[in-house]
Amino acid sequence: MRASLPNRCLLCHQTIGGDGSGLCQDCLQQGCYHQPVCLGCGRGMTLQAKYCGSCQQTQPLPVVAPASYHQGLGSVVADLKYRGELAPLQALCSALVSRIEELEALNIITRPQALLPVPLHASRLRQRGFNQAYVIARALSAALDIPVLDDVVVRTLATRAQAGLDGKARRHNLRGAFMLVQPVPVVRIAIIDDVVTTASTVEEMAALLAWQAPDLQVWCLARAEAPGLLD
Ligand SMILES: [Zn+2]
Ligand SMILES: [Zn+2]
Repeated sequence: MRASLPNRCLLCHQTIGGDGSGLCQDCLQQGCYHQPVCLGCGRGMTLQAKYCGSCQQTQPLPVVAPASYHQGLGSVVADLKYRGELAPLQALCSALVSRIEELEALNIITRPQALLPVPLHASRLRQRGFNQAYVIARALSAALDIPVLDDVVVRTLATRAQAGLDGKARRHNLRGAFMLVQPVPVVRIAIIDDVVTTASTVEEMAALLAWQAPDLQVWCLARAEAPGLLD
């Protein structure tokens, strides 16, 4: 029985005390960013600002994440999606909430009026049994008291899995993948996903929303930034 097993960290296997679950504080802290990063591209910076020099020019969609996918927590975030291993969900969401609060305190981001999880296509949802973005959005909604919009955007195309495709192929794969089925009731939205890689999924959604909700940001558990940006 799962519930009778001692609560151990999925990464270092030490027993976790208190009410934590799935991930110990040591591994969580180790996996989180240890330096300021650009919300546009994920590049490491000396001082926390919204964007690095080059993103300042292009003003990409800001992505808020507590960690890089490549620095320890990637496997935990992947297991959440592909194996339904939800034990570390609260720990990962608390790390994201801390990051959000840190950026709000610096006036770099403004709190959204609603959370919008990236939808799964109905066939993928049946296959996986749950939408990880929705599960994350629910946890953040409870922690921050922000409502979840779950009936505004649907995924109309069962796109090929994004893993293994390069940026151009990803954008092509997603063209027209989402549809707005209701007017957006607010102007400030955080799009929620588990991992942001090239941002093509969230950019496709943002393109659909932007004329009604001009203040968009993305919140995710980990960012898979391009190699070398954090070196
Ligand atoms: Zn651990
Ligand atoms: Zn940048």
